[in-house]
Amino acid sequence: MTVELITTGSELLLGRVLNTHVHWLGRRLADLGKPISHHVTVPDTSEAIRGAVQEALSRADLVITTGGLGPTSDDVTRERIAELLGRQLIYRPDIGDSIRQFFESRQRPMPERTRVEALVPEGATAFINQHGTAPGLALDLSPNPFRTGGTRSGLILLPGPPRELQPMFDHQVQPWLAEHFPPSEAFVCRTFKTTGLGESLMEGRLESALAPLVAQGLQVGYCARVGEVDVRFVARGVQAELLVSAAENVLEQAAGEFVFGTGDDSLEEFLVRYLSARSLTLALAESCTGGQLANRITNVPGASAMFLAGWVTYSNDSKTRQLGVPSSLLQEFGAVSEPVARAMAEGARRESGADYAISVTGIAGPGGGSEEKPVGTVFIGVAGPQGTTVQQQLNRFDRPTFKFQTGQQAFNQLRRQLMKDQGPA
Ligand code: ATP
Ligand code: MG
Repeated sequence: MTVELITTGSELLLGRVLNTHVHWLGRRLADLGKPISHHVTVPDTSEAIRGAVQEALSRADLVITTGGLGPTSDDVTRERIAELLGRQLIYRPDIGDSIRQFFESRQRPMPERTRVEALVPEGATAFINQHGTAPGLALDLSPNPFRTGGTRSGLILLPGPPRELQPMFDHQVQPWLAEHFPPSEAFVCRTFKTTGLGESLMEGRLESALAPLVAQGLQVGYCARVGEVDVRFVARGVQAELLVSAAENVLEQAAGEFVFGTGDDSLEEFLVRYLSARSLTLALAESCTGGQLANRITNVPGASAMFLAGWVTYSNDSKTRQLGVPSSLLQEFGAVSEPVARAMAEGARRESGADYAISVTGIAGPGGGSEEKPVGTVFIGVAGPQGTTVQQQLNRFDRPTFKFQTGQQAFNQLRRQLMKDQGPA
């Protein structure tokens, strides 16, 4: 099936807002076996939106628009599309009520203009917005008036804000698509998240064992990110599930120790889940990452069940005063050293009473390196009930990437320690 995406919004073309919908929807739709074949971004003008929708409908089985469903004068998508299709806009009292409730529950007055958001083109399905006010809309155009032969097409209108669009797509649009545009053949797509092995090493481990499955139609994709590699298996047709399951076995056998999750999982989500499930707790002693580890852990819902405390001990003095790192160690080995990383992790574990503690100390750069300890040198400590391990890494990146990569390694070092101490996930 051909899928086209129309993102609307002058701010996207003026470089004011990064167009994340192409990236996010592109990935979701590809994982559903309905990859986007064409995408266009148009300004918020009536002519541009009408023109783009008509053109896309003349070609595609499914057209998705984003943005312009709000109440302001530049929000014209709903009206122009209703006009284009010759459909009346009808007021839906149930949507009006849900919008009123949205404002009441936030103790904010409801602006009169939001009423337009309860207008729905005749025959459309409305997706109530769980994180905003404007509902999404879906139309099953059979026949599609803009396609020769009057073939059937779907037209879906989604709100602009990503935090409204994303849950709406997952919870409301996907079921609608499954009902109205079911796949013509079985489609199976699974992504595995791995860390600790670069993409070419990963491919090297899997290649020969996957070859016979690839010969039968399995598609394999590798996507390298900072400190992670996604491995994606895709297959179609009656054999699809069989092929993907077989590929999963190959991955498990050849590189299972590097796999920490599926889909969109992150290392921090893994740790929060794993530690909470076993009633284990964590503390963090950070220097060069400046709190980024604590930030990532606390971005995960439920972190309070396992995260006890975090320190950002940037100066030598604070390492000594707050974590009890002996000043003799700092003097003899320097703040970026194996013994200091060890003492920081053990200090955080002792001070917080947590079962495990991670420490990081390193040289983010661009200055501060030496021949012995070049810019990018990091020591990562993990203290736990079975003792403390320290690993040295070299991460030569800009500062934000350095922090993220160091976080990936630190979380992975803890993950591997947990597998050893507490057993598999
Ligand atoms: P609202 O009711 O908030 O006005 P809307 O459906 O009318 O929603 P827009 O007005 O087009 O949507 O966009 C609202 C905001 O959503 C934009 O200012 C922008 O911050 C964000 N947004 C819109 N489109 C995109 C996009 N393609 N990528 C990322 N963010 C976007
Ligand atoms: Mg708007």
